[in-house]
Amino acid sequence: MKDDAKTTPEAGAATGAGVTSLPHLFEPASSGRSKCRGCGKLIALGELRFGERLPNPFGGGEMTLWFHPACAAYKRPEPVLQALAGTSQNLPDRGGLERAARGSLAHRRLPRIDGAERAPSGQAKCRSCRQPVERGSWRIRLVFHEEGRFSPGGFVHLDCRQAYFETDDLRDQVLHFSSALSSEELEELRSALEAGPGARATEG
Ligand SMILES: [Zn+2]
Ligand SMILES: [Zn+2]
Repeated sequence: MKDDAKTTPEAGAATGAGVTSLPHLFEPASSGRSKCRGCGKLIALGELRFGERLPNPFGGGEMTLWFHPACAAYKRPEPVLQALAGTSQNLPDRGGLERAARGSLAHRRLPRIDGAERAPSGQAKCRSCRQPVERGSWRIRLVFHEEGRFSPGGFVHLDCRQAYFETDDLRDQVLHFSSALSSEELEELRSALEAGPGARATEG
């Protein structure tokens, strides 16, 4: 069963853009048991899903990571654009997926967006201004991607978004990953995002 390993890179090498033999793909989910890597929710049976192929870091061969297409467009824009370029499949909202992926790819930190929430305590520090995020104020959650895994990467003040992401064009992306909020909270978040980047004053 030993695989020909001649193309395997050195262990530990950054393989985020690793060469795999099978292309990324879009397909209807053949079960209702796959979880989206982007939002953590189940992908319904028959629902369109995106599969990112990666070299398996735990041995030979490859693995496929499943996503809702929109979640992948925001969090894994490069493989999504590769897949779109490589298929003429008639995908629902293909144009929207491509726009979301191009938007996320335009600023290197945007794919880290994992939604927003009100800080449950005042203990976390903002990754942008390094000041504490006051309890009850809005913060954007970050995740970092490495070798197919997303890990928690801290927070930034909602008002530090322009400074950190270098763009204020992120409303839809933040809202997309904030579905755990109540509809009331979502409206508040939407208004806060539309109120302008609101640069935080840093006190000396
Ligand atoms: Zn998802
Ligand atoms: Zn801040």
